[in-house]
Amino acid sequence: KEELNIIQGALELRTKTVEDVLTPLNDCFMLVSDAVLDFNTMSEIMQSGYTRIPVYENERSNIVDILFVKDLAFVDPDDCTPLKTITQFYKHPMHCVFNDTTLDAMLEEFKKGKSHLAIVQRVNNEGEGDPFYEVMGIVTLEDVIEEIIKSE
Ligand code: ATP
Ligand code: ATP
Repeated sequence: KEELNIIQGALELRTKTVEDVLTPLNDCFMLVSDAVLDFNTMSEIMQSGYTRIPVYENERSNIVDILFVKDLAFVDPDDCTPLKTITQFYKHPMHCVFNDTTLDAMLEEFKKGKSHLAIVQRVNNEGEGDPFYEVMGIVTLEDVIEEIIKSE
């Protein structure tokens, strides 16, 4: 029965989309781009337990960088290093996908290597104004794998 679940999960990769499995923006642990890497901030990062942390400017929907916890290896909290110094040094590429990307396509993207986290955006054409890209949340390789191996 376990095997059947996994096969079922694998088959559903073609119909489910990243929107079905993403972590909503409001639940994301993120840092503001002008943060300072003092003891408090670094403690919060460690306590969050996350490996990849989106960095935003002004508002949470405006993600401008990704910080990897391993980027902090040489950072001394006593130096109060600006976060920007670190993000500008590493410049990890940000990977954006649309909300209707199917999970099998997402898995292929993740397998290609670059990163195991993508930012999910959609076209918002509700309301009066012009349509605009709106960030919905983040999706990681783990979210896709979870869909395959989850036992219902
Ligand atoms: P790793 O397992 O590679 O150390 P991780 O534990 O930081 O990474 P993942 O395993 O990729 O994260 O993802 C686990 C879950 O946490 C997924 O549902 C993912 O969407 C979510 N997630 C990942 N990063 C964050 C974050 N910065 N804030 C909130 N949720 C996150
Ligand atoms: P992450 O992708 O979460 O940053 P990572 O790149 O250190 O972690 P994984 O992506 O988990 O490692 O694994 C990539 C490959 O490297 C796997 O084949 C794994 O077995 C191997 N690997 C992981 N850690 C080590 C290590 N300390 N020494 C040698 N090989 C390792």
